[in-house]
Amino acid sequence: MRIVLLGAPGSGKGTQSQRLMHREHIPQVSTGDLLRAAVACGSKLGLKAKAAMEEGRLVEDALVLGMIRERLRKPDARRGFILDGFPRNLLQAQSLDRLLKKLRQPLDAVVQLEVDYAELVRRISGRRTCADCGRVFNVSTSPAQLIESEPCQSTGGCHRLIQRPDDNEATVAERLRVYEEKTRPLIEFYRARGLLRVINAEGSVEEVTERLEQALHALRRSSAPARGSTRPKARRPAARGPAARRAAKRTPRGKAKRAARVTRAAAAVRVTRTAARRAGRRRRPASPRGRVRR
Ligand code: AMP
Repeated sequence: MRIVLLGAPGSGKGTQSQRLMHREHIPQVSTGDLLRAAVACGSKLGLKAKAAMEEGRLVEDALVLGMIRERLRKPDARRGFILDGFPRNLLQAQSLDRLLKKLRQPLDAVVQLEVDYAELVRRISGRRTCADCGRVFNVSTSPAQLIESEPCQSTGGCHRLIQRPDDNEATVAERLRVYEEKTRPLIEFYRARGLLRVINAEGSVEEVTERLEQALHALRRSSAPARGSTRPKARRPAARGPAARRAAKRTPRGKAKRAARVTRAAAAVRVTRTAARRAGRRRRPASPRGRVRR
């Protein structure tokens, strides 16, 4: 399955992608995570992306597209992928289209996660990420005991929760503005291609997962051939050889054909005899009686 999760920052794309990744065994490809990793390791790409990310702007298309091309060509993406946070503008969507055509891996669906603006702000300000395993929590919706009861998958100890530097109030406002201006037009872009599915992404994480599952289930059902569908039957190649010809004569169709052939032959014989009789009469010398009569 090849899908894009589309939605504003804080709509739950990351959380739902991670859950989907474990269920479907296909990689989550998050451009935000890839860029954060590049910034953390101080690579050339990371240095170029850092300022834009801190200010809540989009990173240059060329950098993001280069990263995506490299990632989708990796072997694990051949079974499918979940794109999270990409594409984010029309140019990226068109480039993705061309890339997937070249790889012969077209998208199956684009799922848009719908969340009210006030709820987005509430979610982003409560978002915390474990610095070691990368799991995302929300301190305003998950009770502290629940977070503490779960061991970190990397260290086995408690999660070390940190707030993303771009989750502060000023940057969040700019990210939401950029979403409205640059990313929202993708809804129509994908709707026009018949790929868009919209789900209500408010409520608990489990409720949203359930709605996402239902949308994907409906998608799988509509793309699978219907049960009892009347697919044209393949014609069996005609059998050849004397044995096949004898067998064909014994079938009801073969017998009917033979009877028709016999009838046609008998009719032909009758026509020939009649014609011969008429021709014979014409050739016979005129009777002397006839001559006398004349
Ligand atoms: P995210 O984790 O998806 O919210 O992304 C965090 C930041 O990374 C964004 O605010 C952008 O600065 C940058 N970013 C992520 N994905 C893209 C993208 N597809 N195009 C441009 N910038 C991106």
